[in-house]
Amino acid sequence: MSEPLRIHKALADAGVASRRAAEKLVIEGRVAVNGVTATVGQLVDPAQDAITVDGGAISAATQPRIYLLLAKPAGVTSTVSDRHADRTVIDLIPAALKKGAARLYPVGRLDRDSEGLLLLTNDGAWAQRMLHPRHGVEREYAVALEQPLTAEQRDRLARGISLEEGTARLIALRPATSAETRNLERFGGVVRGYAWYQVTLGQGMKRQIRRMFAAVDAPVRRLARIRIGTLRMGDMALGDARPVTAAERSQLERHVIDSGPSPRAERRGLVVSIDGPGGSGKSTVGVRAAEQLRYRFCDTGVLYRGLTWLAMTRGIDMDDAAQLVALVPHMKLEPDDHQRYVRLLADGREVTTELHTAEVDREVSRVSQHADVRAALLPVQRGLARTGGLIMAGRDIGTVVLPDADLKLYLDVSVGERARRRAADRGLAGDATALAQIEAELRSRDEVDSTRATSPLRVPDGATRIDTSHNTLEQTVAKVVALVRDAEQGESLDD
Ligand code: C5P
Repeated sequence: MSEPLRIHKALADAGVASRRAAEKLVIEGRVAVNGVTATVGQLVDPAQDAITVDGGAISAATQPRIYLLLAKPAGVTSTVSDRHADRTVIDLIPAALKKGAARLYPVGRLDRDSEGLLLLTNDGAWAQRMLHPRHGVEREYAVALEQPLTAEQRDRLARGISLEEGTARLIALRPATSAETRNLERFGGVVRGYAWYQVTLGQGMKRQIRRMFAAVDAPVRRLARIRIGTLRMGDMALGDARPVTAAERSQLERHVIDSGPSPRAERRGLVVSIDGPGGSGKSTVGVRAAEQLRYRFCDTGVLYRGLTWLAMTRGIDMDDAAQLVALVPHMKLEPDDHQRYVRLLADGREVTTELHTAEVDREVSRVSQHADVRAALLPVQRGLARTGGLIMAGRDIGTVVLPDADLKLYLDVSVGERARRRAADRGLAGDATALAQIEAELRSRDEVDSTRATSPLRVPDGATRIDTSHNTLEQTVAKVVALVRDAEQGESLDD
């Protein structure tokens, strides 16, 4: 450990500027110590404190930088300063790996009872960057429960759990595959007999996963972190430690920057959700409003339709959730020239025009009922919203996919009117039989979509409901555009 010294001297020693110029940087608020704006005369320890100027790290270069990955067993505390702990993670690191480091500390927490990956470093600025809530580096966990979650429990977890600090959310939640569970046997201890789930987390509330699952009466029996951003367990056994290579570090840093929601200043606009039943005009209205607002647009129905189409062409049973989930990586949502995500590639081939047919209409609600299918499609949808400037249409956007949307809309129209519009879209305006059939089909899809156990269609809390029965398309679009403009105004006044 080195002697504490005044911040401007530390900056001068690190070659940033003369002492006088360094002091000016502090006065201008451009210097931060451990993420907090520095004050003139503040004492710092360059070997321990993360010092940044304009966000860039200052390396005191007094000791070699060390970056380690540890697969922590249960029963060891990760809090280095806990004097009551019998053993801390530092004791698990072989001497050769921590040579030269005056002080090594974990990047974030991993509870005493939890297992798995933990990063350790003596590079304070790097640690801060990895932990910064704005970047939210993803972490993935294997979670053991006494029994499988019910659809209702999964739904509540997917919607987010209200904790003291705010709403706790998961990026993804799905049952572990049998191969993934087998892989966990390397950990030792009890693996079989539990229902294992894979959970992806972006936030970092204290004991977040345990508290979220406890809130739905599914206490966590084992919890192992198996991925930090781009770093995975690989063939590490519990108790193993290894250096993180420079290549892995730069890959992780890229991931940190790419994966997080952008700071507000970089956002190009609001995140707007439009939900509503089939044929309510979500997509048509959304596309036009997005055009006027210069927002991006996404029709999430395309994802469910794409999956249905793939399952139909491959003869896959629409009730077999695992097989349906396995198809998800074969699909890619593509923007058109106007940044509208309404196109779908299946194994690289565009199939968009094949998705809006009566055959797909008939089967799609069966596909979209599966909780696992919905969970598998969440990351794609949420990823699009990170940079703002997006209108996203679907059935569960304001409720589940983007519960924090800046503006939530719900379009409603009578089923008769929706059937008339859809028949007209398909060139069947005068055909009474076709009209009756479309109406019956819409009714049955409404019924399934709004009564399914997972993410049923409903009006999101706080949504503005727009009944378009007596409006022209232009009137509805104008209304949506005006609501977004109003909300943008409100947003900029908050700052
Ligand atoms: O909106 P569209 O009619 O294309 O949606 C087709 C079907 O996809 C819906 O009937 C519904 O079953 C499913 N879907 C969904 N959640 C979404 C979007 C669509 O369940 N967010």
